[in-house]
Amino acid sequence: TDLDRIRNFSIVAHIDHGKSTLADRLIQMTGTVAERDMKEQLLDAMDIERERGITIKANSVRIEYPAKDGKTYILNLIDTPGHVDFAYEVSRSMQAVEGSLLVVDASQGVEAQTLANVYQAIDADHEIVPVLNKIDLPAAEPQRVKEQIEDVIGIDASDAVEISAKTGLGIPDVLEAIVHRLPAPKGDRDAPLKAMLVDSWYDPYLGVVVLIRVMDGVIKKGDQIKMMKTGATYKLDRLAVLKPQMVNIDELGPGEIGVFTASIKQVRDTKVGDTITHEKKPCAQALPGFKPSIPVVFCGLFPVDANDFEALRDAIEKLQLNDASFSAEMETSAALGFGFRCGFLGLLHLEVVRDRLEREYDLDLITTAPSVVFKLHMKDGEVRDLHNPADMPDLTLIDHIEEPRIKATILVPDEYLGDVLKLCQDRRGIQMDLTYAGSRAMVVYDLPLAEVVFDFYDRLKSVTKGYASFDYQITEYREDNLVKMSILVNDEPVDALSIMVHRDRAEARGRAMCEKLKDLIPRHMFKIPIQAAIGGRVIARETLSAMRKDVTAKCYGGDATRKKKLLEKQKAGKKKMRQFGKVEIPQSAFIAALKMD
Ligand code: GDP
Ligand code: MG
Repeated sequence: TDLDRIRNFSIVAHIDHGKSTLADRLIQMTGTVAERDMKEQLLDAMDIERERGITIKANSVRIEYPAKDGKTYILNLIDTPGHVDFAYEVSRSMQAVEGSLLVVDASQGVEAQTLANVYQAIDADHEIVPVLNKIDLPAAEPQRVKEQIEDVIGIDASDAVEISAKTGLGIPDVLEAIVHRLPAPKGDRDAPLKAMLVDSWYDPYLGVVVLIRVMDGVIKKGDQIKMMKTGATYKLDRLAVLKPQMVNIDELGPGEIGVFTASIKQVRDTKVGDTITHEKKPCAQALPGFKPSIPVVFCGLFPVDANDFEALRDAIEKLQLNDASFSAEMETSAALGFGFRCGFLGLLHLEVVRDRLEREYDLDLITTAPSVVFKLHMKDGEVRDLHNPADMPDLTLIDHIEEPRIKATILVPDEYLGDVLKLCQDRRGIQMDLTYAGSRAMVVYDLPLAEVVFDFYDRLKSVTKGYASFDYQITEYREDNLVKMSILVNDEPVDALSIMVHRDRAEARGRAMCEKLKDLIPRHMFKIPIQAAIGGRVIARETLSAMRKDVTAKCYGGDATRKKKLLEKQKAGKKKMRQFGKVEIPQSAFIAALKMD
């Protein structure tokens, strides 16, 4: 295809501002999918994504658009995930296209993820077309939002396209803007093949499917190709474009986007950002490539029923076929038995994976508190990554400990600013910037990631009644006075409850955890001391008093069926319990104990 007839773009938006709805509308209006096949949110493949309204894997669609100038254009949309955890996937998809539609909900205005994502588009040198969505809503204020885009982002919004993705209003203007305001791709058809590996996923029937953007040269079905980074060579079985279902095609030239299969076994064999070229006639220089996605948040996943360990292992292996950014290593916990220490890109990623394991594989899991990777600088000069507080070596061997810090951007209506500042301050934050855009404040904080991975989002949402938006990026590792705090229940340390904390906060955290656990652990026939300790020193203590009567006593003996029911209920409850020495701790207590409110 003629380069002048191709436009490649992505859509950047804050979550819920209408990216998926707009994508659906573009697909529908151009007749890419027959009306009867049109399901809502075509690009959000997985159920979980649909339920949560988030897009996780970047995906792509090729649209043919007969423009008003009488020419037919090929528009390639690469869908990008909107959430902060998947910033890497956003950045890689941005490299594959020349422009972006910046979708902003005209009733909400610019939010934290709008900023994070648009900066990525600007970094990738994109031409940007602002699109104001939801103008059908009575609360829409397109004029105010245009000014806000100019003030906060600093791009011209005077000819922003005003649309309603829901009703279809303005969609033809979006299509025309894509054709006339976004640049055509560049590339040399006669040069050796140079294509970017944008994404890959596992398909149970086809094996690994690889999404590519051709920069130079031509790729054809049957070609013998080479991945420049891994050095592996493959013969292309199938070359196709996504409409969004796969439609076979004979070749892809410069500027084009498509997929191939080549009997690749695992997603791990395909490195995102790698350069694909011909084995026989390779290009001289590889593309710059991307930073790999590295897990930053770790937690333990253990089966509630120890007999499910093999099932959990299988499920994890299956999920990993499709998600190379999720890591898992076998772990044994004195308290929880056999399980896995798993690494995720962030909290949402963790939740998505855990949900899928529980739902799609029908597993009952105990999740230990999420933790970040600490860097231990040992006295002998070695630097060790600590993925699990339970593995903390002897303190006397450690010189100092570093933790990851983030730059967090929060946008919030004025009236909640005080609460947000307090929350950030309570989480060891250092304020870096505070500016206003209309009645909204934008505050930038330097925060320890460890203080954010746990329940920061939840707290932020609750103190701002859902009106704040949040985004972050990791900045650096920095030294602080960090210690490991252990929790002892009935004098037995419960490894799954140990956490790394700042020394100055340890006592308050310890006290809070002991108090919580006192409520979370059911009474036993004996009294149970609950303690928090640093090294051998106890810093907080509570005592759970002994149970006086057995549970059925309150049934006054008489009613046998009721008594039986109660016992059954208790038995069912047991499945969700874990035995620690003589004490049973409910599964829910592990996370609940760590919540800070
Ligand atoms: P995404 O998270 O950016 O992909 O947002 P979605 O496309 O999933 O849309 C989020 C919500 O906004 C959904 O409930 C949509 O139905 C709704 N929505 C999207 N566009 C419009 C619009 O133009 N007008 C109105 N009223 N609602 C819209
Ligand atoms: Mg979406």
